[in-house]
Amino acid sequence: MAAYLAKEFREVDFKDEDIRIIPSGETIGMIVRYQGDGTIDKSILLLGHMYVVEALDIDWDALFFGLTQDDKYFYGRGKIDNKLVITMLSSTFIRLKKEGVIPNREISLVFTGDEETGMITTKILANERPELAKAEYALDSDAGGGDLDANGKAIAYLVQAAEKTYVSFELTLRNKGGHSSRPRPDNAIYELSTALLNIRDYHFPVMWSDMTREFFKVSGAQLGGKLGQAMTAFAADPSNKKASDRLETESSYVGTTRTTCVTTMLTAGHAENALPQSATATVNCRIFPGVSVTQVKQTLQKVVENDAVEFVTLDSPVESLMSELRDDVMASVNKAVRARYPNVQTIAYMESGSTDGMDFRKAGIPT
Ligand SMILES: [Zn+2]
Repeated sequence: MAAYLAKEFREVDFKDEDIRIIPSGETIGMIVRYQGDGTIDKSILLLGHMYVVEALDIDWDALFFGLTQDDKYFYGRGKIDNKLVITMLSSTFIRLKKEGVIPNREISLVFTGDEETGMITTKILANERPELAKAEYALDSDAGGGDLDANGKAIAYLVQAAEKTYVSFELTLRNKGGHSSRPRPDNAIYELSTALLNIRDYHFPVMWSDMTREFFKVSGAQLGGKLGQAMTAFAADPSNKKASDRLETESSYVGTTRTTCVTTMLTAGHAENALPQSATATVNCRIFPGVSVTQVKQTLQKVVENDAVEFVTLDSPVESLMSELRDDVMASVNKAVRARYPNVQTIAYMESGSTDGMDFRKAGIPT
């Protein structure tokens, strides 16, 4: 894909030195620099990821990476996350170049190759490229965007300015085991189960920022109904327990009100007729910005009420802070959105998932 894009860029006279392909193992990162006239010193980065999560063909009717249509819709399986925007950014660069536009500062496309998996190219691009490190800010095409309702009416345009920290812990309980014909009360599976139920029943404290309050204020007014009222009440007073309890019951919004942890995987025992010698569960957490991985781990260690539970932190979690919402950026986004949808409101939000943006934020580039 990078080779294909490079060919397209070369055809409109992007110079070889402005197209950089950075291989890393089985994947690849790519930088395409659009040189400006130097009026403004610091550049802007436009982020996107080339890789798409794989899917089993037999599970789908639509063609992978192919475009089809019926009388109402276009279908493009494998496009949205994130090849569609890679295409939009690339074709816009190509068009601007063809039209002879020279921007007042340098703009760079920064495409990663493994955002959905190891994020190795993300880390290389965010941390090891001095030409990117001096950017004023980055715009990440993999987050935010417009929403239409079921009738195709535009509702809102979202701008993501913060992400929760993603971390998984592995919890293990060990036991000397024995024969299942001679059961004992001490049992790795029962004890781990109790620990996990304690985690299920624990509610992390409610948290908020100016941005999440504003998000609920605007969304509540748009949504209306009981849920909308809860959002509005939470925005007015985040200590309103009735409102935060109501939002906690909505899987789409619980993550915006607090840190969450949930058990996602389980392995235990080794034979039908043996007492388990170990039981291991994976607990995945999405942590509110400003709270550390260590703090959450300590909380869980307390919550399980069993000192024998071994905790292992998986991978290397990236903790990133919220990016300031810049007036100039938000004004430009508004101008662009309203050119097409005059009445649509732009809303900043915090994402419960994660994107390449977290590594760029951590590297000091507001995203
Ligand atoms: Zn994505």
